[in-house]
Amino acid sequence: MSLSIALRLSRLLARHTHRNMLPLRGPAGVVSFTFDDVPASACEAGAAALERHGVRGTFYVAGGLTGQLEEGKPCHSEEQLRRLLDNGHEIGCHSYSHIRCDTLGTGRLTAELERNARFLAHLGVDLQGLDFAYPFGAYALGAKRICSRRFRSSRITGGGPHYDEVDLNAIQTHRLYAETTETPSYEELVGQTAARKGWLVLNTHDVEDPPSRFGYAPEKLALAVKAALDAGCKVLPVGAAIDYWESRAG
Ligand SMILES: [Zn+2]
Repeated sequence: MSLSIALRLSRLLARHTHRNMLPLRGPAGVVSFTFDDVPASACEAGAAALERHGVRGTFYVAGGLTGQLEEGKPCHSEEQLRRLLDNGHEIGCHSYSHIRCDTLGTGRLTAELERNARFLAHLGVDLQGLDFAYPFGAYALGAKRICSRRFRSSRITGGGPHYDEVDLNAIQTHRLYAETTETPSYEELVGQTAARKGWLVLNTHDVEDPPSRFGYAPEKLALAVKAALDAGCKVLPVGAAIDYWESRAG
């Protein structure tokens, strides 16, 4: 993806403004598993891989994808989303139309977010303390200003774990994808997160065998959850992780 110079500059400025810093001081590191777009397989095999180990995840939903196909694969149904909520998972916002937010004007972005808020409210999602993930990780100065006012947190894509502190308006991830060349590996990052008591947020999409290149296989996902727990990390949805850090921030 090539970004215009103006957009690069806007993103650079965004890194340093509209920040909401939270200290990461706790007795243990935290790993959060997040699912973007929420394919049907994430609702089924993805949720099951977490539940098998007694933990829960965060599912970032774009209402415009509900009941649709994405890249030829079925997305979630409303019934699947309700089951996720019933089983204690977190549902977050991912815009309504799964649209890049960095190039949208204020009016269009606000309309997108309000449309998805109505959809999530209809599902029974509590809009207080809603967490957001930028589609395609695409953020910029204007979008960050708007999202920082609307959401408890906003997640971008990539960048790795946070240590010592996090900007809740630009939470980074490690991509848990079938085809990844990112280093260090997941296993190394979990070790570092446990040792430094940091926060590692993971993002993936479909959970099936074989997965798409942006997804992950169910057995590998279950092993990743186990590895985080075995390393001594807590595994928490994004909202619960923020509660954990805030309760210790003093
Ligand atoms: Zn997405």
